[in-house]
Amino acid sequence: MDRVIIFDTTLRDGEQSPGCSMNHEEKLRMAAVLDEMGVDVIEAGFPIASKGDFESVKAIAGTVKNATIAGLCRAKKDDIQAAADSLAPAKSRRIHTFISTSPLHMEFKLNMTPEQVLEAIHDSVSFARQFTDDVEWSAEDGSRTEDDFLCRAVETAIKAGATTINIPDTVGYALPDDYAAKFRMLIERVPNIDKAILSVHCHNDLGMAVANSLAGIRAGARQIECTINGIGERAGNAALEEIVMAIRTRNHVLPYTNNIDTTKITNASQTLSSITGFSVQPNKAIVGANAFAHESGIHQDGMLKNAATYEIMTPESVGLSKSELVMGKHSGRHAFRKRLEGLGHKLGENELQDAFIRFKDLADHQKHIGDDDLHALVVRK
Ligand SMILES: [Zn+2]
Repeated sequence: MDRVIIFDTTLRDGEQSPGCSMNHEEKLRMAAVLDEMGVDVIEAGFPIASKGDFESVKAIAGTVKNATIAGLCRAKKDDIQAAADSLAPAKSRRIHTFISTSPLHMEFKLNMTPEQVLEAIHDSVSFARQFTDDVEWSAEDGSRTEDDFLCRAVETAIKAGATTINIPDTVGYALPDDYAAKFRMLIERVPNIDKAILSVHCHNDLGMAVANSLAGIRAGARQIECTINGIGERAGNAALEEIVMAIRTRNHVLPYTNNIDTTKITNASQTLSSITGFSVQPNKAIVGANAFAHESGIHQDGMLKNAATYEIMTPESVGLSKSELVMGKHSGRHAFRKRLEGLGHKLGENELQDAFIRFKDLADHQKHIGDDDLHALVVRK
């Protein structure tokens, strides 16, 4: 009941974002990292999109050991057939089909009436079920879909055989309260809702992808679609590492379990950055270079006395070896002395005071002070 399925779409939604494309080998390497980390479902690509995508999904399906492999497809037979063919080698496969359900998308994008959309949902899901028992259906632009129509669409998808129902906040428009209300509404109103697992898929256009995902889980969803480093269309998707560490760190209020080995997070983040050349902002939660770094003297002093004073998670829990006390103009004497000791310089009180003054002088002019600079400070007395 409290198990949350982690559905990673780094290789599909993530790869769709500008600057994040990956070649065949790179996708295989990333899929192996995700699998080793304990992701439940890897969305490996959009098989009809290109020959390359088809081949990558097929190769991933043939090599991944544990995770279920999913392929995305529109509500079209050719798409679904391509997904089924590319997923054939997988030990466990999922066909993920979607269609827009919001008034705006149905009218302007699909040029279809609501009744035609319902028919397409029925036809696509039942066709997909011919290839696998594991079929996910997504209501694209679900967060902006009218409640009555969303209920009918979800009921239709489940009747046709969908086992996972995903309600994406495709455009990153939702707030946590409205997004949660959508799930409560579906659970209350859709008669066959207990036959499927509900899923969240949130974009970060307003910076709320993770908050919205967690709100959806608290309202009854049990699958989270997310990406490493939060890469994805426009402002990105909900970041896997943030979701998993929020659940772990605040487990008394988010009492859910998942299969992720969090000590693999840093490696997954760095592997993705090095493959794509798409670096992570230094102040990014969990995986940014500064996420476990401290420069202010007050914080460094606290950290040296007890790391829990300024860290809610240990660096080891995400696979980093230790926190970093950065030497800069905000650093205090306590951290300065410790760092010098670490470098083999045991100074008396007066010597230390002199060196500390020289250090502060240097730090006023120089942003980054490395171990070499510290050595020089002490030797040059
Ligand atoms: Zn998306």
